[in-house]
Amino acid sequence: NDYCNPQGQIRDTCCDYQSIEAIQSDVFQKIQNLVHSKFFRYYRADLWKECPFWNEDALCTNRDCSVATIDENVLPVDWRKDALSAIQLSPKGSLFQPFKQCTYKDQDFCLVDDQIDSDSVVYIDLTENPERFTGYAGPSSGRVWKAIYEENCFDIVHHMTEGCETCNNIMNLGGANIESPTTVNPFKKTAAVSKQQQSRLKKPDSPFAHVPLDKAELHQFLEDLAEEADGGSDSNDEVCLEKRVYYRLISGLHSSISIHICDEWFDREAGIWGPNLDCFVNRIGSHPERLQNVYFTYALLLRAVHKIGPYLDKYEYRTGSIQEDENTRLMVQDFIKSADSCPSTFDEKLMFKGPEAQALKAEFKDHFRNVSKIMDCVGCEKCRLWGKLQTVGLGTALKVLFSYEDKSLDPIKNHDLFERGEIVALFNTFNRLSESVHAIKTFRAMYADKMSPK
Ligand code: FAD
Repeated sequence: NDYCNPQGQIRDTCCDYQSIEAIQSDVFQKIQNLVHSKFFRYYRADLWKECPFWNEDALCTNRDCSVATIDENVLPVDWRKDALSAIQLSPKGSLFQPFKQCTYKDQDFCLVDDQIDSDSVVYIDLTENPERFTGYAGPSSGRVWKAIYEENCFDIVHHMTEGCETCNNIMNLGGANIESPTTVNPFKKTAAVSKQQQSRLKKPDSPFAHVPLDKAELHQFLEDLAEEADGGSDSNDEVCLEKRVYYRLISGLHSSISIHICDEWFDREAGIWGPNLDCFVNRIGSHPERLQNVYFTYALLLRAVHKIGPYLDKYEYRTGSIQEDENTRLMVQDFIKSADSCPSTFDEKLMFKGPEAQALKAEFKDHFRNVSKIMDCVGCEKCRLWGKLQTVGLGTALKVLFSYEDKSLDPIKNHDLFERGEIVALFNTFNRLSESVHAIKTFRAMYADKMSPK
């Protein structure tokens, strides 16, 4: 097995592994510098929302799970709660509206925490809270991953591909079955789960809420999804592409998180942090599709970052210093210019094209929004922070790619299309994936070294 050394085309993208690795090398230092700059390092999040789907009381109390917060007074006035809650811009940015309090703010593909005056909303310096090994594992994290992958069940895809046994089966296990809140789907089949069953399953006091996670079932479910996503041939109808893209993004995020865990592993016996090659080979290296999904997610994010470039040219950074605003603008421009060598890593125009495009897009959005809510069920503060941030980051990428034409991405014509938090999340998520590709190269060298005759 040539672990960690994938070759050839990355499915559902316009790139091969080598070009992604070449771009990654070119822009790695630039994105690292960006995420350490004032604009991109501070993030606001509500870390203590109740899990809306089941009773999550397994909170990780390890020191490594906790998040260090900062006092909001260190932030520029424009980014503080008072300034934000005084006025809210309408989503189109053309009208001022009184701030309406809500738990989540609908931001198209994802949900940005918006109860900004809640006590559980905190400010975080992301550079002080790296995503790495925390020890969070077991049924709690397994249940969250299962619920996230269950969102891969698309009713319209089921309809067009004549049923999806995998999804129906897993729903019957009593897992976190989360119904799309808004989609009216004309093709909805009366599937294996009745309405009554569904409402029983998703209530917090559900008798199923503490059903122990069956690891073998979860494993089989995920293997089936992976095979489905990888096995689809080019002759499949277009609808399958959307389902594959959804799966690849989630799996790519999952792989990336695992890579960070393995790359910054805590060896309890030795009491030191460092890369753990066995962890990488077991979780990622020996699963080619998981490896491929990291590159896929990187390619999609790169396309989104590239597309939002012109919007950021004229964006008001409001760091509190004109000089700092200008420096940020120049750093972003320089980074995007370097990433220009391969602008079409992903072709979003191939998606949402068929006769059911609009309904499928609505469903895709609903599933993604549910993933945002599932992140409130992660039982480890730091994992929750990065889980939430990266869901917002991926959601922002989807919003950039699928909600706007290139020409409408202009903050003068259409200002405030994106909140600061969305831009910060997009770039930090891209940086996480960039670090993952970087770590793959390190693990490849470690593996080659281990295998070479001494
Ligand atoms: P898991 O990673 O829990 O995976 C469960 C099952 O999913 C596996 O058995 C496998 O069948 C399948 N699977 C695994 N990877 C993939 C993939 N890429 N694609 C498709 N299927 C896959 N722990 C930390 O130490 N630090 C963190 O920062 C952290 N952040 C987390 C964030 C979130 C949102 C969640 C849900 C968990 C997080 N965790 C974190 C926990 C971590 O992800 C694992 O759950 C934990 O380390 C246990 O790993 P595992 O080997 O049992 O498999």
